Amino acid sequence: RDDKIDEIVKAIDEYGSKFLRFQFVDIHGTPKNLSVSLNRPDDVEHIIEDGLLFDGSSVPGFVGINDSDLALKPDLSTFSTLPWRPDEKGACRFICDVYNIDGTPFEGDPRGVLKKSLKKAEERGYQFNMGPEPEFFLIEQDEKGNYKPADDAEYFDVEPLDQGLDVRKEIVLGLEKLNFNIEVSHHEVAPGQHEIDFRFDDALKTADAVVTFKQAIKAMVDNLGYQVTFMPKPFFGINGSGMHCNQSLFKDGKNIFYDPDTETQLSQEAMYFIGGLLEHAKALSAILSPTINSYKRLVPGYEAPCYIAYGLRNRSTLLRIPASRGIGTRIECRSPDPSCNPYLAFAVLLEAGLDGMDNKIDPGEPTEFNAFSLTQDELAEQGIETLPTSLWEAYHSLEKDEVVKNALGDYVYNQFYNIKRAEWDDYRIQVFDYEREKFLNI
Ligand code: GLN
Ligand code: MG
Ligand code: MG
Ligand code: MG
Repeated sequence: RDDKIDEIVKAIDEYGSKFLRFQFVDIHGTPKNLSVSLNRPDDVEHIIEDGLLFDGSSVPGFVGINDSDLALKPDLSTFSTLPWRPDEKGACRFICDVYNIDGTPFEGDPRGVLKKSLKKAEERGYQFNMGPEPEFFLIEQDEKGNYKPADDAEYFDVEPLDQGLDVRKEIVLGLEKLNFNIEVSHHEVAPGQHEIDFRFDDALKTADAVVTFKQAIKAMVDNLGYQVTFMPKPFFGINGSGMHCNQSLFKDGKNIFYDPDTETQLSQEAMYFIGGLLEHAKALSAILSPTINSYKRLVPGYEAPCYIAYGLRNRSTLLRIPASRGIGTRIECRSPDPSCNPYLAFAVLLEAGLDGMDNKIDPGEPTEFNAFSLTQDELAEQGIETLPTSLWEAYHSLEKDEVVKNALGDYVYNQFYNIKRAEWDDYRIQVFDYEREKFLNI
């Protein structure tokens, strides 16, 4: 038997937990789990080694009812406790990979999709790093039950305006218990809106971390009696919540996007990576901005991108190259929002970028003016295209993009396509108050 398994089982025993959770995500990136009772340690060793069988038929994006057995095999490096539980030592957890019962990886597992893409990078000697900037709202309900932001504070405000300060403090301390390396946290631009950033790491660890981050925050905020939402655009007329994705490629411990000898200190590889991201931007949108609500965030005037362009420091473009150089040289993609599945999002970003490098896609000149100030005609003159403005448009772009489809693999692509099509159809037949206000008198 694997020595590591013995070690972990011993550690769990010493820790005194009653339950061991086996966690994974569905196609939306929503965490799911099964708990194993730790009263029977012999069984637990076997389960950790051989995998925990489960019925995958009701998991969105997984399998049909006629062939529904799957197995969860823990990634031993992901072992953690769950500090937000009332009894801190009550349960501990693994993040798992999903397998078919014949022992082959299950193609519908989003974590498996990212691992496959990362392998392509590894074969070229690269480590893909990701630093996400998730934003969220603390919300409350008024007497009528309508949701509203929980405070009136603005960007970087302090107490007493910033009513989320104590909640944020609890969240940061809780995340630190989970070994998060929190860099900054602050009130965001919109009322009730917050951001907590953790240090970049390799993309698989970061994707696991994003799932844990949302899960932990929801649980901790609930414990404190508040409400939180990661919805991309919860309120009309104020900023939505993004999850900017800061990307870099390392080779032999060095950041290959950095080149001290060019004018911008960006390497040729960085330029091609940008070229790939721009080339595939429309199809990427289906994965990075995957809900009907995502597209209500991607409109002019709210610091969210609408135009397919890159800029140095320019926050009006889809891609931005922050000023930091050396190890911190990175490409920030500003369209992703916290409703995306981080495993799928990081996989498609990486493969679009690698495609740019493989095919030497030239990104052209950077956009150094405020792209929001241009008219449609001026944008056309500059050759600047617009991001998809709806889920409908995005998934039709995805249909035509072999690189992004290939990154997802046939299985996930087909599942995703069917689920998103149904989501769109469900949405488009609704009639909203807005329409009655506008058209009742026609
Ligand atoms: N909330 C903005 C967005 O939707 C970002 C604002 C910011 O981080 N400066 O992307
Ligand atoms: Mg930020
Ligand atoms: Mg922000
Ligand atoms: Mg940012």
